[in-house]
Amino acid sequence: MEIDNVRTLQEREEMVRKQILSRNVKDERVTQALLKIPRHLFVPEFYRKYAYHDTPLVIGEGQTISQPYIVAFMSELLEIQPTDRILEIGTGSGYQTAVCAELASEVYTIERIEGLSQKAEAVLESLGYRNIHFFVGDGTKGIPEYAPFDKIIVTAFATEIYQVWVEELKEGGIIVLPLGEDFRQTLVRGRKQNGSLKIEKHGSVVFVPLIEDTP
Ligand code: SAH
Repeated sequence: MEIDNVRTLQEREEMVRKQILSRNVKDERVTQALLKIPRHLFVPEFYRKYAYHDTPLVIGEGQTISQPYIVAFMSELLEIQPTDRILEIGTGSGYQTAVCAELASEVYTIERIEGLSQKAEAVLESLGYRNIHFFVGDGTKGIPEYAPFDKIIVTAFATEIYQVWVEELKEGGIIVLPLGEDFRQTLVRGRKQNGSLKIEKHGSVVFVPLIEDTP
C-alpha cells in the first residue's frame, strides 16, 4: 500500500512535468490538484497501468476519461476561484469533477448514464469529497434548481451553446466547452458580459459527443 502510494505519486510528478508544465499550463492550483488526485482510481482496473499516460482511456459505456493535459488546460481556462459554484456537464469517470472539487466551493455534476454517475460518486466519496452534488439526466437542460453558477464546464462536445447554459451562468462567469462536430471541435471559452457570451478559441480537440435526450 505504502509502496503503491509512493509509486503513483512519482507517476503523477512525471505526468505533471512531461505533459502539463511542458505544454505551458501554469496555474499552480491546477497542477497541485493533479499531483494530489489518484487518477488511477478513476479508470477501470484493466487500464490502471496506463492511468498516467498522455492519452484518454476507455471507461465503459462507450465513454472516455479525458487526457490529463486536456483536464488541466480546461481547468486553467475556467480560472477557478475557491468561492466558485461550478456546473459540470458529463461526470464520466469523475476525474475532472475531482479537480473542480479541489479548487472550488461546490460542484454540481450531471451525467446521462446512471452507471457512470454511480461509479464516479463511489470513488469521489471514498476519497472524502463532500462538496460534490451528483445528478443523472440531460445536461443540455442545465440544473435550474441550483443556478446561477460561476463557472460551467462541458466535457463532451456540443454542436451549439445552449441558451439555458448562458442563462444559468452568472454575469462575469465563464463557460468552457468543446464545440463542433464529430472529430472536429474547437475548445472554446465564453465569458458572460452584459447577458451574452464573449467567445475565445483555444485550439482543436477531440471529445465524445454530448447526447441530447429527446423528451
Ligand atoms: N470529464 C469526464 C469526461 C467523460 S466523457 C472524464 O474525464 O472522465 C463525457 C461524458 O458526458 C460521458 O460520460 C457521457 O455519458 C456524458 N454525456 C453525454 N451527453 C450528456 C448529456 N446530455 N448530459 C449529461 N452527460 C452527458
